[in-house]
Amino acid sequence: MSDQTFLSWPFFEDRHRALAETVERWSAANLPANHGDVDAACRDLVARLGRHGLLAPTAPDPSVPSPLDVRSLCLIRETLARYDGLADFAFAMQGLGAGPISLFGNAEQRSWLKLTRSGEAIAAFALSERKSGSDVANIAMTATRDGDDYILDGEKTWISNGGIADIYVVFARTGEGPGAKGLSAFLVPADLSGFAIAERIEVIAPHPLARIKFERARVPASAMIGAPGEGFKIAMATLDIFRATVGAAALGFARRALDETITRVRTREMFGGPLADLQMVQAAIAEMALDVDAAALLVYRAAWTKDNGAARVTREAAMAKLYATDRAQDVIDKAVQLHGGDGVRRGHIVERLYREIRALRIYEGASEVQKVVIARQTLSGA
Ligand SMILES: Cc1cc2nc3c(=O)[nH]c(=O)nc-3n(C[C@H](O)[C@H](O)[C@H](O)COP(=O)(O)OP(=O)(O)OC[C@H]3O[C@@H](n4cnc5c(N)ncnc54)[C@H](O)[C@@H]3O)c2cc1C
Repeated sequence: MSDQTFLSWPFFEDRHRALAETVERWSAANLPANHGDVDAACRDLVARLGRHGLLAPTAPDPSVPSPLDVRSLCLIRETLARYDGLADFAFAMQGLGAGPISLFGNAEQRSWLKLTRSGEAIAAFALSERKSGSDVANIAMTATRDGDDYILDGEKTWISNGGIADIYVVFARTGEGPGAKGLSAFLVPADLSGFAIAERIEVIAPHPLARIKFERARVPASAMIGAPGEGFKIAMATLDIFRATVGAAALGFARRALDETITRVRTREMFGGPLADLQMVQAAIAEMALDVDAAALLVYRAAWTKDNGAARVTREAAMAKLYATDRAQDVIDKAVQLHGGDGVRRGHIVERLYREIRALRIYEGASEVQKVVIARQTLSGA
């Protein structure tokens, strides 16, 4: 069993410790999933997580509106990631995809949350475009008012769950102002006329991913989430919450890499004793353990701060995401090194972790973007 001592930190309440135990038990019994067909595996994971009630923290119950509990989201992501990156992905996207609805949706839009929480509907978050990944304010996709409707035109790319999602939250330019001030968010069902999957994208740690396109796709004005021109604010507020959870997933990958390495160096005999007896190996283990604990402190500090009523946790979430993802990459690299040839053998757990961690330093704000955010906040005294 992985180190669980962090659960006694003052960031957590008894309900979090109970949740961690439930997810641990479920994960040990059900993961890893068979990844042979990632679309089918993701649909199945969402359905099973939903049936077991584990998707409940991804969105408030529409009948009992309450804020998202970021510590619960982080604990679940950390645990699932430790067992299976695809299970973490399936869980995380239900939260990110439904996030703008949870935070800013009206009663009618929030009725979708019942379905995303139960695993009966799959959600996607469609912000990025070919020319506006890091430069979010540069979005080109348009939503043009036409009577009681909006007409959507343009493309989005790198959309997780693209191809299997039932609903997409799509950000488009409505033109109330320049740049970030002229964007709005829309809730779009996958069966909308004029909407199509333009391309499926394959990545090193496979999950459903697509370029999607809209050609004169008509949605009622009531599909807009929040008010006209609020799209950028909605996207950033959603990312504020989910960025810390990306750090939590990285933490789960790093913890697994450390666990695997501890077992390995204790049992691998060479030069007349276990690998763990060599001081250079001990130095690597010490650095890995330190990185894991420091990342956990930053992730759960960000989560706790948000749960305790902070309006925004931009600085804390950026620090958590940057540190946890960057250090996890290094922890996993050390794990691969200490596993020798087995570390790069296809299908080995540390080889899988090596592929799983990479994209986390790019999506939901690349590491450099997090540094810009932290510097801005620090220099402004926020
Ligand atoms: C696996 C995966 C899943 C994704 N899922 C989704 C999704 O569900 N929904 C969605 O909307 N998007 C998604 N994305 C898109 C993701 O958010 C973008 O890839 C990311 O924002 C970077 O944009 P880009 O790829 O266009 O890279 P670019 O914006 O071209 O940036 C390239 C690199 O430039 C550097 N850089 C960027 N900005 C700065 C800066 N200010 N200073 C210094 N260096 C900088 C960074 O190293 C960055 O990686 C996903 C991406 C991946 C890889």
